Amino acid sequence: MIRVARTVIVKSVKLPRKVFRVFVEFECMYRNMVEQLVIYAVKSNIRSFTRLKALKYREMRSLYPQLPSHYVYTACQDASTRAKSFLRLKKLGLAESDYPEVRRISIWVDDHLWKPSGYTSIRIATHKGWVTIEIEPHRQYWRYINREWKLASEAKVKLNKRNRQLIIYLTFVREVEEFRSRGYLAVDVNENNIAIMVDGIPYLFETNTEKLILGYHYRRKKVQEKYDKLYGKKSRSKKKILRKLKEKEKKLDIKWKVANIIVKTAYEKQYAIILEKLGKKSTNNMIARIKNKQLRHRIFQTSFRGIQKVIEEKAKEYGVPVIYVNPKNTSRICPVHNVSIIYSNGSRIGRCSKGGEIWHRDVVACWNLLLKAIWGDGSHAPSPAGSILVDGSPVPLGSTATHEPIGIPKSIWARWNSLDVTMNLYKMIGMPT
Ligand SMILES: [Zn+2]
Repeated sequence: MIRVARTVIVKSVKLPRKVFRVFVEFECMYRNMVEQLVIYAVKSNIRSFTRLKALKYREMRSLYPQLPSHYVYTACQDASTRAKSFLRLKKLGLAESDYPEVRRISIWVDDHLWKPSGYTSIRIATHKGWVTIEIEPHRQYWRYINREWKLASEAKVKLNKRNRQLIIYLTFVREVEEFRSRGYLAVDVNENNIAIMVDGIPYLFETNTEKLILGYHYRRKKVQEKYDKLYGKKSRSKKKILRKLKEKEKKLDIKWKVANIIVKTAYEKQYAIILEKLGKKSTNNMIARIKNKQLRHRIFQTSFRGIQKVIEEKAKEYGVPVIYVNPKNTSRICPVHNVSIIYSNGSRIGRCSKGGEIWHRDVVACWNLLLKAIWGDGSHAPSPAGSILVDGSPVPLGSTATHEPIGIPKSIWARWNSLDVTMNLYKMIGMPT
């Protein structure tokens, strides 16, 4: 069984002034508590929550007797997390001050401090007793409720002072059992596309990450230059504008969408997903060798590992097994003849140095990932041309065929949730399949 957790953000309705004031007072006390605890933890070099709690519980209780006692626990958790990351920065010489500043705060609550009350309101313990808050459920929230996810006991609450609302960070959890796979779906992540292979058919999801990232790179640079000149290097308005570019969100969105299609396809067929095993530092190593600053930026941002992580997350949710194989030479060796494929200057199309057949680089990678998953890692024995058997069916590796994958532009796949729908539309608009 695997535990899967998802955070869902819901807002309360706009609260009456009187009720909201309670939360403002309450947040202020909670903030003071966290601030004191963080300073103490950093000063005494304490990273552990239990230690911090053991040393400070009594004092905090006497300072804030009106607060429910469990807030001391959650404030200690909050503070020790902050202290830990600050001490790490300090050790690396990256801390800008002696103590961390507690700027943004969210109130951590556990099962003693909040309770759902039906599906559309929650109760929160404060210094003025329990307060019932109505929330505004949305589609995503109902989806988790209807699909029988369980609410975790930990949650976080933030105040939106402008709208007199509470913002509540709920965590939904579910236990999922992994199924036993009946076949494989290979996934090869590249800079501008994600190649997958299902039942011997390769598909290329064009992601255009390169364009997206370079576009942002220039836009960000322009904003930076303009604002640095106007307001100096550390201006707030610059940060605000840069945040608005929402680079992260857009990229993440692409990742989730493509991961969704891949995982749902694997789930429907009850296949395991094959991914390249990338080391923690794989992108860094790749980057170190690249002199061109722009390209370095691009690769770092594409972060192959990031896409894999999203696929993993989604796979967990559906109980789809994920297999990792060694990525060595996956796009360089002919899967039929086990010799190198020659690519002429930067082309993605190459020719097998033995059989002379034409290969598309990303298709080669998918085949090799599949073969490695079936025959175990490392190099595999050469197999007679055209007779590789995968799941009992011969792999179509004729020496005359160009192994062109089916390329699917982002404008098409981004709007769909499953490969079937995508492919049907694809046929409808008359593209070759
Ligand atoms: Zn070959």
